[in-house]
Order: sequence, then structure tokens, then C-alpha cells
Amino acid sequence: MQLDQLHQDFFQAVRDMADKHVAPVANGIDKTNEFPHQLIDVFADMGLVQLAVPEEYGGPGGDLLSGCLAREAVAQAGSMALAQLAGQNSIVVNSMMTGASKELLAEIMPILAEGRTITCIAITEPDAGSDPSLMTTRAVRDGSRWIINGAKQFITWGSMAKYALVFARTNDRPGSKGISAFLVDTDQPGWQVSKHNDKMGQHGVPNNEIFLYNVTVEDTFRVGEEGNGFGAAMHGLHLNRPTVAAIAVGAAQCALDYAIDYAKQREAGGQRIVEFQGLRWMMAEDYTHIAAARDLVYDCALAYDGGAPRDEVTKLSSMAKLFAADTVNRVTANAVQILGGHGYMAEHPVERYMRDAKLLGIYEGTSQIQRNIIAKRILR
Ligand SMILES: Cc1cc2nc3c(=O)[nH]c(=O)nc-3n(C[C@H](O)[C@H](O)[C@H](O)COP(=O)(O)OP(=O)(O)OC[C@H]3O[C@@H](n4cnc5c(N)ncnc54)[C@H](O)[C@@H]3O)c2cc1C
Repeated sequence: MQLDQLHQDFFQAVRDMADKHVAPVANGIDKTNEFPHQLIDVFADMGLVQLAVPEEYGGPGGDLLSGCLAREAVAQAGSMALAQLAGQNSIVVNSMMTGASKELLAEIMPILAEGRTITCIAITEPDAGSDPSLMTTRAVRDGSRWIINGAKQFITWGSMAKYALVFARTNDRPGSKGISAFLVDTDQPGWQVSKHNDKMGQHGVPNNEIFLYNVTVEDTFRVGEEGNGFGAAMHGLHLNRPTVAAIAVGAAQCALDYAIDYAKQREAGGQRIVEFQGLRWMMAEDYTHIAAARDLVYDCALAYDGGAPRDEVTKLSSMAKLFAADTVNRVTANAVQILGGHGYMAEHPVERYMRDAKLLGIYEGTSQIQRNIIAKRILR
């Protein structure tokens, strides 16, 4: 699929930035697990953190295709973790654009438009992951405000976020019917980061357990109708999935390129390993899978940007995420295989890529859940 010139130029600009600022720190943060804070200014100056904030609020108003391209470009430069800084606010912005009042948008969007404010989305709980309707975090009304108590698990950016879109039960109607969403200011004592999780990969981006103890939020900071917060959340998630898939595409390309370069230089049994048919076929198949995954991502983004029905976009976003997550896991594992014993050593980045890739089929809905979403839509 051929991109128009504008999007090609955008991709290249982000890639150039990432080669300069992301690639040099990508291995280091894997070891230190420390977020490189200086990158917030670099990304924000390019309008990347705040990419989805509409122009009417002072943001760049980037389309979904740009959101995908930005993440693909950063991942291709060697960091799946830092690719998440591109469009960092998008999931919250898209949820708010669906469900927040005009007053709340007018108050918060100009802040997010500056690109220096980190946000997070807090849905998952110890006993509510793939089925978030089982959540028990509770918001109780107290006059014009809500008081929230509960625990959230696995929250990306939890310790860095100024605002969190928190999902909580506001009534006892079954399933998702009783859940509401609130934009919470985390600068209050009740927002407690109770744990920094030690992850398999994607080091450098924080992931936290959050304890909410009498967290207060004005009713005007509710996003979506009371008892129907899920609609807004799902819209935000469905629009984020193709960007996660784009990270997978960029990372898979990065791993394959590395493996090809290595295979052209390495000799075994008196010949360059790039001549072995078994490896050539591996690389040919990986290349084909990446191209197919990229097309699924762009196809979904173009469908949304072109005004396709929401349900169609939901199906396409799950297809893109499912296939791209499988692809990046396959390609990064193959890259390790192509490098042989060297691939297993930390001196080459492919072992990091393989660890980082595992997450792509888990967060924002596991690959099993993506299959359920697709099946529901094609088997009606
Ligand atoms: C690094 C990381 C970052 C994350 N970031 C965030 C975040 O920012 N905010 C947030 O709210 N959450 C976040 N999550 C949570 C993530 O979305 C959940 O881990 C994920 O949805 C799966 O939930 P679970 O871990 O409870 O697994 P479970 O739901 O317990 O699933 C366990 C297994 O059962 C399978 N399974 C479950 N239900 C079904 C079904 N109906 N059909 C078929 N198979 C099924 C799953 O696919 C999985 O293989 C993050 C997770 C990780 C690991």
C-alpha cells in the first residue's frame, strides 16, 4: 500500500528523530529500566506525545494513520518501549473526545496539547483483566463529586501520569452496564503507586499497581454517561490497537533488517550464512508477513480516517493487532535463531526485541480476545 507524500514525509521525519534520540538510549534503558525524561520535550516539540489532540484545542489533530506511522517509525529505530511515547495521550484523548463534556474538553485538552503531560488509562484489576466488567473498584457519589476506592493492576505510565482515566463501578447493574469512567488528577494523596512492576521486557516505561484510597473527582470530570463509561473506553482502545500493531510492524522490520545484515557477514561451514536456503526462506517469509501486517495496519487507519463505520474499524483494528503481534513474535524469534548463539547474548539487541515483542499479544486485549472480537463480527 503506497502512502501519500505527506505521510511518507512525516514517517521519515519521525524516523530521523528516533535515529538521533531514541536509538542511542534504547539498549541502555533496557538495563537501567529508567525512563529517559529528556525525550518528552523532543517528542512534544514534534507534536508526537499529543498527536491526537484536535486542532481546535491547540493540538496537531493528527489522523490515525499518522499515529500508526509515528509509532512504527520509533519502533523501527529500535525501541518498542519508547514507541509508546508517540501518541502517548491518544487513548485518553480519543476516549474523552467520545464521552467528555465540552467544559471538560475545554479545560484539559489545551493542557494535553502542549505535549508535556503524561496520561494513563486504568482499567485492569487483579481479578478483572480480559473481562473488565468484573471490576470491583467503586465510585460512590457525594454531592457534586465522586469518591473512588479500589486497586488497579499493570498500569502503563501509572507513576508518571498527571491524569488517569479510571474506570470504576457506579452501580450494581450486571457486567459493563454499571461502569463509569473518570478523569482523575493523580496529584492527590489517595492516588498511591503501590508497586513498580518488574517486567520481562519493554523496560524504561513504568508499569505500576495503583491503589485508590478515597480519591475524589468532580462529576464534571466524568467521561461518558454514568453507568456507560465503557463505550468511551472501548472507542479509545479500538483506536489504539492499530497503533500497537504499528509498533509490532516497525519492530519486526527492525529485527529482520538486523538479522539480514548479520547473515550477510557471518560465515559458517565455509560460506556466508545468508546463502543457506533454510535461512533465506525464513527471511523471505518474515518479510512477507511484515508487509501483510503493515497493510492491515494502514488499511484499518485509512478506513477510520475515511469515515468507515465504527464496528468495521473495530474488526479491522483487532485483525491488525492479532496479525502484527504474531508477526513480531515470529520475526524476533527468527532473528535470534539467525544469529545463533550470538542472538541469545545481550551484546546483540535481538534478544531484547524478542522479550519486548511478547507484550504485543498481551496488552490492550490479548490475541485470544482479538480473535473473539473478529469472530463476533464475522459470524453474526
Ligand atoms: C506490560 C503491561 C502493560 C499493561 N498496561 C495496561 C494499562 O495501561 N492499563 C490497563 O488497564 N491495563 C493494562 N494492562 C493489562 C492488560 O490489558 C491485561 O493484562 C490483559 O487484558 C489480560 O488480562 P489478564 O492479564 O488479567 O489475563 P486474563 O484475563 O487472566 O487471561 C489469562 C489467559 O486467558 C485468556 N482468556 C481470557 N479470557 C478469554 C476468553 N474470553 N476467550 C479466550 N481466552 C481468554 C487470555 O487470552 C490469557 O491467555 C497491561 C498489561 C501488561 C502486561
